[in-house]
Amino acid sequence: MRKKIVAANWKMNMNLTDGAELVKGVLEGMPELNAEKQVVIAPTYVHLTQIASLIGSKEHVNLGAQNCHMQTSGAYTGEVSANILQSAGVKYVILGHSERREYCHETDAIVAQKVDQALAAGLEVIFCCGEPLAIRDAETQNAHVEAQVKAGLFHLTAGQLKHVVIAYEPIWAIGTGRTATSAQAQDMHAHIRSVISGAYGTEQAAGMSILYGGSCKPSNAAELFACPDVDGGLIGGASLKAAEFLGIVSAM
Ligand code: PEP
Repeated sequence: MRKKIVAANWKMNMNLTDGAELVKGVLEGMPELNAEKQVVIAPTYVHLTQIASLIGSKEHVNLGAQNCHMQTSGAYTGEVSANILQSAGVKYVILGHSERREYCHETDAIVAQKVDQALAAGLEVIFCCGEPLAIRDAETQNAHVEAQVKAGLFHLTAGQLKHVVIAYEPIWAIGTGRTATSAQAQDMHAHIRSVISGAYGTEQAAGMSILYGGSCKPSNAAELFACPDVDGGLIGGASLKAAEFLGIVSAM
């Protein structure tokens, strides 16, 4: 089943008091959701259990994490495994975000290992991909993103891939206020879907949720989400204010 999803990536923002207030505001104003329209909230690791208890049993609002480690357990001081996340109530984990690829030097191979860890722990993966501005300017974005998708995901079985959501996030649009046009988003999402289709078949590709991320706001969400291959969004800055995030959820 192809779900619509709006996911909040709080990044390294929100202390516990502010995060609790934000999640309460989001839950209060949440429009009707269902199995096909889901929300994910990904706070910082240390607040996961508190945010989980605030979300409680609110249906179709899922706890997310922003990363996991590439190993199952062991002497990795300061790291958090997929299993530990799962035991804290996490349902989704964001992997391969461009900020982690850049600042934490996460290669495609590392991201692929993290995907394996997350799936083995029973988590759903939000797999991020996207090109830097120089690649977009050179008009080679399709090949760039295709290579990231293949390197990160194509070792998976069809059954495993059902637990992966792809988030296309052009790096030049993340936190910059410069959103991809709906035509640019649709073109890339259709390309990603055709790449999935080429390896896993049309049915699998048609069932896959592909989110857009990069300066998505209430003012542009409806147009982006109206694209046939855009199934929702991964939201950074605009997820930090309840009214803005709810405006985007309403556009879903
Ligand atoms: C992100 O970093 O995943 C993101 C989409 O950020 P922003 O919405 O702030 O561009």
